[in-house]
Amino acid sequence: MKVAVVKEAAPAERRAALVPEAVAKLRAAGLEVLVESGAGKGSWHPDKSYAEAGAAIVSRDEALSAADAVLTVGPPDQQTITRLRKGQALLGMLSPLTDPVLVRQLADAGVTAVSLDLIPRTLPRAQAMDALSSQANIAGYKAALVAAAAYGRFFPLLITAAGTARPAKVLVLGAGVAGLQAIGTARRLGAVVSGYDVRPETKSEVASLGATFIELTAVGPASGEGGYARELTAEERQAQQEELAGHIAQQDVIITTAQVPGRRPPQLINASAISAMAPGSVIVDMGASELGGNAEGSQPGETVVTGNGVTIIGAGTLPSTMSAAASAMYARNISALLLYLVKDGSLAVDLSDELQAGVIITRDGQVVHPALAEPAAPTEPALADSPGGTARVDGTSH
Ligand code: NAD
Repeated sequence: MKVAVVKEAAPAERRAALVPEAVAKLRAAGLEVLVESGAGKGSWHPDKSYAEAGAAIVSRDEALSAADAVLTVGPPDQQTITRLRKGQALLGMLSPLTDPVLVRQLADAGVTAVSLDLIPRTLPRAQAMDALSSQANIAGYKAALVAAAAYGRFFPLLITAAGTARPAKVLVLGAGVAGLQAIGTARRLGAVVSGYDVRPETKSEVASLGATFIELTAVGPASGEGGYARELTAEERQAQQEELAGHIAQQDVIITTAQVPGRRPPQLINASAISAMAPGSVIVDMGASELGGNAEGSQPGETVVTGNGVTIIGAGTLPSTMSAAASAMYARNISALLLYLVKDGSLAVDLSDELQAGVIITRDGQVVHPALAEPAAPTEPALADSPGGTARVDGTSH
């Protein structure tokens, strides 16, 4: 069986689906590995390193035509989709819940599409394949560093001959994998940290990291299915924003990580809360994407300074900025999934297996994942109430 790594479709994406170490592992398992020349450049892995690990360095054309399975980090672009052929497998973080158009295209192409971002994370055997967690860990760590770098004062208490600096007050909104890592990292940098989440079970996790958990009286527990949060109602959202505003005004730095799978990132910080923050405060919005963000006015990939001097950093793609570490972890995740799916040298699809049924989204011309059976239904209501205009389910906004 031949597997191929191609250059990522998104121009800013620096990660690669495999690193040389993973190539060696797949070779040892009997797979042939093709790597498009230059695919590892962004993560500091030259072609030579892949070749030494046993990969064949090939052109994009060769990789796409010869591969039984194409491995990517993010979704493919249109040009790549048209090159995929019937029966070929595509493994990557395909964001199928927010991109039904791509799902349909992959089904029409007869591709067996496998989306790592749908992995059933609570299954013990899926943990080595949990790319959402590995990448969220990196993102949370980097978010704290980005915040510290943008903040014009110290994170720790510093007593010097030239004066004493008080520690920064950092609030982390959303205490999942990324949020807990951001809390831990900000704490290690010496900040006074608090955390908030709608899932009450996160209270003890936040406290175990030495941070203070903020409890809101206006919003009740909002745990949803599978350990995720449910989407709040419009009334709950407003009550949450209003009560959070009081806490936000007292912070020097806010890191937002809140997500609800398949939905627009919830807006937790509105313009009025931002206007009450002190000049020099920093918001790092990890939810920032074309679909919106956790902070009103945040722009994906951009830094905006408001009229009252608050720096808002749209940081939705942080794992790519730590491409070497992120690629190494992702390569372990995707290799583990690939080896789980391969039996006797070919892909052995078995949709009666809970793990496989959780990650395989298209097969033999059909959309086979239960969560995607009617793809427009779960996303449209959430996307229609965009604060900054309407966003379409194909990921574009207008
Ligand atoms: P996520 O990225 O989907 O969301 C990040 C956080 O945002 C979550 O904690 C969520 O509760 C929070 N959030 C959503 N809406 C919010 C709102 N309106 N206000 C405040 N906070 C809001 O979550 P994640 O980091 O991927 O983790 C989600 C869950 O998956 C957790 O329960 C985690 O323990 C679980 N998990 C389990 C395993 C495992 O069992 N092996 C592995 C990884 C994660």
